[in-house]
Amino acid sequence: MALPLSFLRRLRSTRTWIALGVVAPLGMLVMSGTMLLDLRRDAYANAEQTSKNLLQVLERDIARNIELFDLSLRAVTENLKAPGLEKVSPSLRQLILFDRATTAQDMGVMFVLDERGDIVVDQGTVTPRKGNYADRTYFRVHQDRADLGLYIGEPIVSRLTGERMLPFSRRIDKPDGSFGGVAFGSLKLTYFSRLFEPLTLGHDGAINLYLRDGTRIMRHPYLEADIGVNIARAPTFKRFVSSHSGAFIGTSVRDGVERHYAFTQIGNWPLVLNVALSIHKIEAEWRAKALIIGGGLVALCGLTLFLTLLCGRDLRRRAALHEELARLSRTDALTGVANRRCFEQALEQAWHDARRSGKPISMLIVDADHFKSFNDRYGHPIGDAVLKALADRLAASVHRPRDLVCRIGGEEFAVLLPETDRDGAWRIASEIHAAVKTLAVASAGVSAGSVTVSIGLGIGPEATDTGADALYRRADAAVYEAKANGRDQTRSAPDADNQSRTLRLVGV
Ligand code: GH3
Ligand code: MG
Ligand code: MG
Repeated sequence: MALPLSFLRRLRSTRTWIALGVVAPLGMLVMSGTMLLDLRRDAYANAEQTSKNLLQVLERDIARNIELFDLSLRAVTENLKAPGLEKVSPSLRQLILFDRATTAQDMGVMFVLDERGDIVVDQGTVTPRKGNYADRTYFRVHQDRADLGLYIGEPIVSRLTGERMLPFSRRIDKPDGSFGGVAFGSLKLTYFSRLFEPLTLGHDGAINLYLRDGTRIMRHPYLEADIGVNIARAPTFKRFVSSHSGAFIGTSVRDGVERHYAFTQIGNWPLVLNVALSIHKIEAEWRAKALIIGGGLVALCGLTLFLTLLCGRDLRRRAALHEELARLSRTDALTGVANRRCFEQALEQAWHDARRSGKPISMLIVDADHFKSFNDRYGHPIGDAVLKALADRLAASVHRPRDLVCRIGGEEFAVLLPETDRDGAWRIASEIHAAVKTLAVASAGVSAGSVTVSIGLGIGPEATDTGADALYRRADAAVYEAKANGRDQTRSAPDADNQSRTLRLVGV
């Protein structure tokens, strides 16, 4: 596809290149900014994936253990209904009630309480240890409600072993459905700490296990003071219980650290587990990359911009210089009007236009009279000043934008008048004579009227003309006539009717 001409022309302009030089690095900055944001999103996506994988593994382990625990407690409540159980020996009864799971490493204590809260069967000893647990929350909730199923309470300190435990309990119903006691078991909190311990989550990373009521059961890294604390009112916790599982960024009420949280409920139990990674840690690697890439790019783009602007300034200067040189090459140094070179180009162009339009073109050749003697009398510098003043007067005598005054020789000027007929040119010649008559240099004693000019007027194009020089030759011949005829006058070259005219202005 051909590119539009205007576009190609614009490509050649200095401004376009400067604009491109500015836009390109800015575009690069925008692109790399987008890329870095993408990398940041990736960092978060990776962190979320890692947390979710971890959650899944932990959740499965914890859910399986609770399931086993519940099965053991269910077995206790079921086996208690076995006929004749009260008649068998205590050791046999212990064997019947508690299965092997109850001897697992992290199992705390397991016993059966009667309706008054006293231990009646103890998994730990054949003769039950003494103790009344009617004051425990789990005992009271089962006493009050028959439909609780497995109840998981707040972490407690065992009265039998002094260890921190998570209590699990089930209600025992009498045959008539009334409260008959509680089957109780506890899981040592060390189970959770052993489970979480090997996991490294980086600085400020954490794993938390909560009851659904907001009580913290375990935290990794472990701190005694964290256990049992209730954070139900924290905005983060409200989100943990708003759905079964999910992920979000929030600020911890515990230490004010901003973290990425991935959370899940454990099975259908009222437990919430979360893996929290510090935002700072997630972003650390990305930040380092962003700093290197971003910093490098900003520096490079800055340098490119700087060089572009520097280059642009240089190009603009050169363009201005070029323009000035071009102007000077067309200008006469002494008088400031167009020089001979410019005159020749303008004459060619005007001649060409006149040929095309059929409109006449006039030329005046203005030559200072007796300028040699003028110089001899007043000195060359005064002669220069007069030439300058003469050029100014010539320039003031023409009015159209395309009219052109040129210095074509020492004290010889040409006035090019496109689209001007003989009468028009004649009027201008008269104006020139009148204007020159007022020229004076008081300081040098040059009074008004001392300077006069002879003007030769040529008109073209004529049918026999082969080029613009015909017009010049006619005007030049007319100047000679004016000189020969006594100077201070305008002579026009004979036109097609072979008529010539003379203009003499005296005493204007
Ligand atoms: P004519 O009336 O026949 O034109 O006489 P003229 O003396 O003007 O003509 P001529 O061609 O004999 O001499 C031209 C003089 O113009 C010669 C020179 O002293 C003077 N002249 C040419 N260029 C300059 C210039 O740049 N500065 C000054 N001051 N004089 C110049
Ligand atoms: Mg002269
Ligand atoms: Mg001359």
